[in-house]
Amino acid sequence: MREDLIAPCGMDCALCSGYLALKYRVKEKGLKVPYCMGCRPRGKQCAFLKKRCALLADEKVVFCYECSEFPCENLKRIDKRYQTLYRMSLVDNLNFINKNGLAQFIAHQRTKWQCPDCSEVVCCHNGLCFNCNLEELKHKKKMYRWDEKKQTQKNP
Ligand SMILES: [Zn+2]
Repeated sequence: MREDLIAPCGMDCALCSGYLALKYRVKEKGLKVPYCMGCRPRGKQCAFLKKRCALLADEKVVFCYECSEFPCENLKRIDKRYQTLYRMSLVDNLNFINKNGLAQFIAHQRTKWQCPDCSEVVCCHNGLCFNCNLEELKHKKKMYRWDEKKQTQKNP
């Protein structure tokens, strides 16, 4: 379990296409997806909000729920996008972490996003497993959209 993969905004980088692409070295397998090691590991703190948030830029908060303005307008905007397109809420994630701690959150995530065919997780950006669904990913027209009919999550 890697706690450094949970970004300040509540994003679980372990579910991100950029992180999964790197983890499975998909470029070597013929799939062109940009690699990312995760928001915290690459020192960006937060890819979404840092440029708009002095507290994040100066590393005054570890997670956005520590902020008196939580959830701020910027976070709410991204949260809405993630709820609409990617079947998760960053604000819900942060509330869960605040209440139950990081270890429990990560355990919960592994169950919620587990691939039905292997012990890995599916990508939140398209619902596919970078371990099992490589061919499907190669032929996917929109890398950052789910197939509407797809129900990959065990407990959506
Ligand atoms: Zn799989």
